[in-house]
Amino acid sequence: MKILNLHGVGDIRLEERQVEAPAPGEVLLKIGACGICSSDEARIFETGTYHFPTVPGHEFAGTVEAVADDVDKSLIGRKASCFPLLPCMECPSCKKHEYETCSNYKYFGSRNDGAYAEYLAVPVWNLNLIEDHVDIKVAALSEPAAVSLHATKKGRIKEGFDVAVIGTGAIGLMIACFARNMGGKVTVFGRRAASLVPAEELGFAAGDSASLETSDPAFDTVFEAVGTNQAMSQAILATRPGGSVVAVGNPHGDFALSKDTYWKILRRQIRLVGTWNSTFKGDTDDDWKDVAALMAEGNIPFEKLITKTFTLDEYKEAFDFLRDKSKPKSRGMFVMD
Ligand SMILES: [Zn+2]
Ligand SMILES: [Zn+2]
Repeated sequence: MKILNLHGVGDIRLEERQVEAPAPGEVLLKIGACGICSSDEARIFETGTYHFPTVPGHEFAGTVEAVADDVDKSLIGRKASCFPLLPCMECPSCKKHEYETCSNYKYFGSRNDGAYAEYLAVPVWNLNLIEDHVDIKVAALSEPAAVSLHATKKGRIKEGFDVAVIGTGAIGLMIACFARNMGGKVTVFGRRAASLVPAEELGFAAGDSASLETSDPAFDTVFEAVGTNQAMSQAILATRPGGSVVAVGNPHGDFALSKDTYWKILRRQIRLVGTWNSTFKGDTDDDWKDVAALMAEGNIPFEKLITKTFTLDEYKEAFDFLRDKSKPKSRGMFVMD
């Protein structure tokens, strides 16, 4: 099979590898599509990963091709995405079924080889079954969709809420879609007019995020999906008394708030909440199952979030396209068949 193997920062190679049979408790997924996350771009071109070589790719879906002897044979042929986190099952978080905060996890595509490949063996526990009529590319959005749905739920959105999303990446746009689906009136904010085009194409009102600093607070819930000091300040300033700020964006640097902005958290009694990853097989909540149901329903325009697809052979073109920041884009994706 073909794989893309990362040998060092900036050194990713198309290689051949033998397909391995699934180990006990595993299924072999024939990968149909794998999203190219901005965290993959950072891993490949800036930060590297835990060890080299590593096959990136944590946003994937495929069809079950084979199962180990101890796994239910009826899974063969089923479409599925995969929770890419491999929990330790022993830490306090895992004992509470809150795997997203596991303190000793492994991860497909960073600590373990991932799905920039034609096949990947994964534990049956990690499978998230997807209805057959859902496009495999949409199914491959399960991971960012589950992360986005997890964040959106933290906003406690009610029918008619004014909702702002600061940030125009795939996660920001998916949060906007889920918030609208929950009855929110959603505006997406960004710093450049060009970056707002995908939001407008999805039917959202859009605005310059600088405007949030000067107008009266107009939002019940604000999602900060950029990860900058400026965007966090804007999120707080835009939030009404009693409203919520959800911190989503991974921080790009240190954060410092002006005294005036900090006062707003107190005086407006703003609820400031963080979000991380997604729930999978939780006691009360399973973002992945919810995402699978939303994909089956078809009310969320997931397919519009996929900007362009590439084969594994076209990897150079794919990374050139995604690293060119002059054009707006949400998700690039490798498609294997
Ligand atoms: Zn990702
Ligand atoms: Zn754990």
